[in-house]
Amino acid sequence: MAFGKKENEKKFYIGVDVGGTTIKFGVFDKNKKFVDGFSVDTKVRKKDAEKLLTKEMLDAIENYCSNNKHGVTKSTIAGIGIAIPGPVVNNQVLRAVNINWNKKYDIVEETKRRFGKKVNVRVYNDANAAALGEYNKTLKGKYKSICLMTLGTAVGVGIIIDGKLVEGKNGVAGELSHLKVDFSDEAVKCNCGNVGCLETVAGGRGIVNVYNRMYNTNIAKEAKDVIRPAKKGDKKALAALEKSLNYLSIVISIVMLVYEPEIILIGGGVSNEGTFITKIIMKHLKEKVFITKKFPKIMIAKLKNKAGFYGAVSEL
Ligand SMILES: [Zn+2]
Repeated sequence: MAFGKKENEKKFYIGVDVGGTTIKFGVFDKNKKFVDGFSVDTKVRKKDAEKLLTKEMLDAIENYCSNNKHGVTKSTIAGIGIAIPGPVVNNQVLRAVNINWNKKYDIVEETKRRFGKKVNVRVYNDANAAALGEYNKTLKGKYKSICLMTLGTAVGVGIIIDGKLVEGKNGVAGELSHLKVDFSDEAVKCNCGNVGCLETVAGGRGIVNVYNRMYNTNIAKEAKDVIRPAKKGDKKALAALEKSLNYLSIVISIVMLVYEPEIILIGGGVSNEGTFITKIIMKHLKEKVFITKKFPKIMIAKLKNKAGFYGAVSEL
């Protein structure tokens, strides 16, 4: 019967997470169940970076469509969700300095031009997409308001209030990695141009900065060079880690007092050490907020580096 055929029709969604070194793709079925993943290297150009990057991203999806085991073809794609490392408002990328996206370029329109007008296309800031992914996949129904803090090499923050992502008028809402928290003389310059932003003292690069500055050295290269010895009881490493997570707790205390989310999720590589990290954060948070004894739960994010593309398709 004709209508039975329609119900069995294959339908897929593609989630894309554009990072500074790789573009990650997630393939989802019509129920948004993850079926496959692949990635390509990010090539950042000096000129026309936006256009060329978009082309390579769409080429990679087309190549996948012509060669995969899951029955994904160009005509079965119902939606494409894209996470970009820069501010995004109303489905438009404003800029993304890490990938040299400096000009206005309509990635949504170009994606529709290549895959068809009927394909639903959404673009998000990457930290926001990750927050949506964690929320829609693992927390929706149980909680309404969350804050995701991704402590990767850099720091990303995504805010969901009453089940809705908050982007702000100009895409700046949730850009808490650029809240100035280090007012000391040795504060480090941030990529945004300011000095002493959260990102300079928290997240992978920030932890390294804090340690090397505290002990006037350059032996720490990655966050794990500090976190692992700290966990084993090395007092110097632990003091540096505590200092970094204390800065983070300043920002979390602000988040808590602004909208009191039920959950603070910690993601990114730094979160791999689980409760060792969350306990230190909670200790410092409690030192800062006295007005209540009820604190948001601080939990480890579950989707790891898949959160971005999960989120990018989750509302298509
Ligand atoms: Zn900054």
